[in-house]
Amino acid sequence: MYFKASWRNPLYFKSASNRVFQNAVQLTARLQIIRIMTSLTRPAVAPVTETHEVLNQVGPLTGYNVFLSDHVLAAAVRREGAGWAEGALSELGHLLGSEEAQRWGVDANENPPVLHTHDSAGRRRDEVVFHPAWHNLMRTSIEHKVHSLPFLQKRPGAYVARAALMMMTVQNEAGHTCPVSMTFSGMAALQAEPDLAREWEAKVLSPVYDPRFLPMQQKNGVLLGMGMTEKQGGSDVRANTTRAERLGDHGKEFLITGHKWFCSAPMCDAFLILAQTAKGLTCFLLPRWTPDGAKNNFHIQRLKDKMGNRSNASSEVEFDRAWATQVGEDGRGVNTIIEMVNNTRLDCATASAGLMRQALAQAVHYCRHRQAFGKRLVEQPLMQNVLADLTVESEAATLLVMRLAASFDARQADERNRAFSRIATAICKFWLCKRSPVHVGEALECLGGNGYVEESAMPRLYREAPLYGIWEGSGNVICLDILRALSKDPATAEALLEELKTVSGADLRLDRLVASLETDMHSAVRKTVDHSHQAGARRLAERLAIALQGACVLRHGRKEVAEAFLASRVAGDHGHTFGTLPESADVERILAGSIA
Ligand SMILES: Cc1cc2nc3c(=O)[nH]c(=O)nc-3n(C[C@H](O)[C@H](O)[C@H](O)COP(=O)(O)OP(=O)(O)OC[C@H]3O[C@@H](n4cnc5c(N)ncnc54)[C@H](O)[C@@H]3O)c2cc1C
Repeated sequence: MYFKASWRNPLYFKSASNRVFQNAVQLTARLQIIRIMTSLTRPAVAPVTETHEVLNQVGPLTGYNVFLSDHVLAAAVRREGAGWAEGALSELGHLLGSEEAQRWGVDANENPPVLHTHDSAGRRRDEVVFHPAWHNLMRTSIEHKVHSLPFLQKRPGAYVARAALMMMTVQNEAGHTCPVSMTFSGMAALQAEPDLAREWEAKVLSPVYDPRFLPMQQKNGVLLGMGMTEKQGGSDVRANTTRAERLGDHGKEFLITGHKWFCSAPMCDAFLILAQTAKGLTCFLLPRWTPDGAKNNFHIQRLKDKMGNRSNASSEVEFDRAWATQVGEDGRGVNTIIEMVNNTRLDCATASAGLMRQALAQAVHYCRHRQAFGKRLVEQPLMQNVLADLTVESEAATLLVMRLAASFDARQADERNRAFSRIATAICKFWLCKRSPVHVGEALECLGGNGYVEESAMPRLYREAPLYGIWEGSGNVICLDILRALSKDPATAEALLEELKTVSGADLRLDRLVASLETDMHSAVRKTVDHSHQAGARRLAERLAIALQGACVLRHGRKEVAEAFLASRVAGDHGHTFGTLPESADVERILAGSIA
């Protein structure tokens, strides 16, 4: 039967729609085939890695024990009476070298703290919110007693053990060590007010990290901060304008009005601050909450946008008749807070040695695996000189800082160690903080371009390094403090000379340096701190530091390291950059023992 294909015929529409449908199916099928055919003939869009094999790139330094891999530190811990802490140190060293803990450091810096000045209703909130990684870092340090050990373990070696904890911790992440260090140091200043110290002690020394923003009474552990620096002056704290007004005629309660230009870690629970009373600069403990459970008038204005130390919230704060209680004698605030300052200076020196150690570890690891011009970098003679020179510097720094920590342990019992620790703290703070930025910068270059890239650990170390020089007395201020100690406390010069003379006769080069220093120190003791005398303070501080390090490496350093140190740093057979050790230096042996 024939149906004329006419629009008049109803079947036309049916068959026409069929045809359209069939055509569409055929077209889709054809397109599909074309697509398959073209995908077979066209080259695949390849992931970049498939264009080449990745060669000669070095994996991260991870999965190692920060303590056990550092022979110099481990030996110092044993030698200086802290062998009892080896288990805890090794446990922390293992954790800090793990990929997980290294990630915390990266995350805490990539996600810096956020300030909330007000709540949604416009009321003051004054809270800083941190990334969870920050809390992991804080919890780890508090649980390992980096903030408290010498107060809990009153036994020989406690300061040494704690310095080793600190030295390892900064190698993983330095920013969070700021509140940890201030809590440790603040406890020393609180001793000036025994009742107050008793009230706070259990919570300050608690191994529980409790970040909740609550009054101290409701918390399981608290942190201490410090507020000295104001807009018009940080070094010259006597210029502080913040005022303290006594509540009532007697008693130790005050209302504080003024500001602090740098107040790191404003989420600490209380701050040791300086303010002016009628008698002069006085030390106070200013908590975030008043004793009756109200928020104190402690207002965080803004967070600092810093070059490094980005995980740590450094802020500017205003005190608007904030409640505080007096610590130590009225009008003698500097003398009271100096106890805190001494401990934080010890930490600046320790942290600088830690940064140097980590920078060295990264550089040696990289050069052991990276090849250039047919050899591993670690086999290239000039790179060997650079790495060996960095090793000498780092090992001498570790030895010096451990000797300093040991003097903190011994200073209560023994006048010589008291005087030694007084002067050596300033010398070590100045010198190690000055050496570490240059050392870290050179170590960074050992990684070539990769060292300049954030994914390597180096930029974070590099940005952190100059901070320790500024904190707690910048370079010049510390050198002037050395002069002050020598002239006002002559026992410091005697203790220093006695220390240097423990190695008398062991090396002529060092003997000569010590003899010349003896003359210079005696003249410093005789002179008052006049202006012409001040201009030479850095030269004296440098030579004292090198002599002390010389004595340390002679007594406890590896033979080849001691020889290289004495030839280069003491006798001056050295250039102006790292990698200029003299030919006599046994660079291969120095390097072989640098990183276990
Ligand atoms: C990240 C960060 C966090 C900080 N956290 C805190 C904190 O929590 N609490 C706190 O109180 N402070 C804090 N500070 C402040 C720090 O302690 C001060 O910056 C430091 O003490 C120097 O004070 P200043 O900045 O006022 O410099 P200044 O005192 O103005 O000194 C400037 C320069 O002059 C030099 N100088 C000063 N006096 C003399 C002199 N007589 N002769 C020769 N040279 C001199 C100094 O060495 C320095 O190099 C922080 C600083 C930073 C960068």
